Amino acid sequence: MIGINTDAGDVMDSLENAHAEEVLQWAFEAFGNKVAIASSFGAEDVVLIDIAVGINPEARIFTLDTGRLPHETYELMDQIKNKYNVNIEVCFPEEHRIKTMVEEHGFNLFYNGVQKRRLCCNIRKVEPLQKKLGELDAWVCGLRRDQAITRTGIRTVEIDASNRGIIKINPLAAWTEKEIWDYIKENEVPYNRLHDQGYPSIGCSPCTRPVRAIEDIRAGRWWWESPELKECGLHKNDRN
Ligand code: SF4
Repeated sequence: MIGINTDAGDVMDSLENAHAEEVLQWAFEAFGNKVAIASSFGAEDVVLIDIAVGINPEARIFTLDTGRLPHETYELMDQIKNKYNVNIEVCFPEEHRIKTMVEEHGFNLFYNGVQKRRLCCNIRKVEPLQKKLGELDAWVCGLRRDQAITRTGIRTVEIDASNRGIIKINPLAAWTEKEIWDYIKENEVPYNRLHDQGYPSIGCSPCTRPVRAIEDIRAGRWWWESPELKECGLHKNDRN
C-alpha cells in the first residue's frame, strides 16, 4: 500500500491505473477523516458510495443541496442513507446570497446568459463546496474521462489547484458508462430513477433535461449553452 509520505508525484503515477477499491483504500489510510466523498447521487456517485462503504463503513459523504434539486434525488438520498446506514453531510448555500441574487436577477436567472448561470452555480454550489473543502485534505469525486470533453484529461489522483492544493481523487476516472451500469445492476445499488427516464446526467431540476440516444451524455445539462462552457465551477482544473 502506498503511504502518505511517498512523494506526491510517485503516488499519483502509481495509482493512475489502480482499481477503484485500491484507490479508496489508500485514500482512507492516507487521510483518515480528512477525506470525504462528494456526491450528487448520479450513477457514478452511488457506485463510489457502494465501494467506499464496503471498505470503510465510516466513510464521510457530503452533498450540495442547491435548493433546486429534483425530488427524485432527495428520494435517492434517503434510500442511500437507509441502505448503507450512513450520514450524509448536507451543504447549503448562504441564505443571504440566495436572497440578494433572486431579488436582483429573478428565480430563473440561469436562462439569461452564461454569466448569470455561473453566478447561480457559484452561489448554490461552488461557495458551499469551497467551505466544505476547507475542512478537508482530500476529496473523492465520481468524474470519468469519457463523460465530457471538459473531463478527458482528469487523473485518478491529482492536486486540486483551485482548492488550496488539496488532493482530488477520481477512482472511476477510467471507467466506462457500461462498467458503471454493470456494477449498479450486479450489486443492486440504488440509483436515481430519472436515469430510467432518459437523464444520463442529473443536476438541478431547471437545468437538466432528458437526452436523445444520439446525444452526448451531458447534452441535457445547461442544454442552451455550447459544450465547452458546460461546467458548473466545481471542477475548475479539468483539462480539455
Ligand atoms: Fe443554479 Fe442551474 Fe447551477 Fe443549479 S445547475 S446552481 S439551478 S444554474
